[in-house]
Amino acid sequence: MPSAPKWVFDTLNLFVSQIPEVQVSQTEYLSTTVKRISLQGDYEKLQFSVGAFFDIRVSDTDARRYTIAEINSEKNSLQLIAHIHGNGCGSDFMNHLEVGDRLVLNKPRTEQKYYDKAAEKIVFFGDETSLALACSFLPVMEEQKKEHLFLFELDAENNAIPELLGLENSIVFPKSTLFSDPDQIKELPIFKNEYWSDAYFVLTGNVNSVQNFRKVIRTQMHAAVKHQGYWLQGKKGL
Ligand SMILES: Cc1cc2nc3c(=O)[nH]c(=O)nc-3n(C[C@H](O)[C@H](O)[C@H](O)COP(=O)(O)OP(=O)(O)OC[C@H]3O[C@@H](n4cnc5c(N)ncnc54)[C@H](O)[C@@H]3O)c2cc1C
Repeated sequence: MPSAPKWVFDTLNLFVSQIPEVQVSQTEYLSTTVKRISLQGDYEKLQFSVGAFFDIRVSDTDARRYTIAEINSEKNSLQLIAHIHGNGCGSDFMNHLEVGDRLVLNKPRTEQKYYDKAAEKIVFFGDETSLALACSFLPVMEEQKKEHLFLFELDAENNAIPELLGLENSIVFPKSTLFSDPDQIKELPIFKNEYWSDAYFVLTGNVNSVQNFRKVIRTQMHAAVKHQGYWLQGKKGL
């Protein structure tokens, strides 16, 4: 429910605080359009699966989804990574968060089982909105010694962010026409490399890019695919 009248949000269980004392403890701009936010709180009793997200009430009438990138071993601090694209209330809310701000958070949710423990090789595709999901995959993939490859389509100012986040094995593509054109996607080296043909693909980010990438995988490989569009051009609160 991305948007609803204020009274609906006021009465919904979903936006009642379930985690006491959540407070912004640190914020950091990784670029002008990507912000990492640390939230201090008591997360001890909660389950955090790979790709878990919060539905955050970002205004009286709007909620937006943000993925938990990382949680520390003491379970008292977690991080979100927000794309500050400047066109919506979610982006504005994240942009304005400052150290000391308090947040109402319900329990983390997972709608999709993104991570497949049985997969030997994992190929991850996404954009700025997928960076937190990639960070949540990384420690689990490393611990379970999975072969993995991150493919990102990013605005030029964000090219260095995967490396900065420790996402080794990343290839960054410009956010241009490439992923809007299945014929260009077909020419990517990954489709010429047998090694990844039986990988498990996880595709998130821009709905059109995700759909095009998925279409090409289906015609070129027999790979398993998990996909979820995170935002659609021109659509509010997907
Ligand atoms: C399960 C899930 C997890 C997600 N996790 C994250 C996360 O960790 N970090 C994160 O940044 N996002 C994440 N997203 C995506 C985020 O929820 C959407 O981008 C959301 O639309 C942002 O809300 P908004 O109010 O800023 O923009 P909206 O009000 O939804 O949209 C307003 C306008 O902005 C455009 N727009 C929306 N998002 C973008 C974008 N990223 N780039 C360019 N234009 C955009 C829309 O097309 C629309 O024209 C996640 C989404 C899902 C479904």
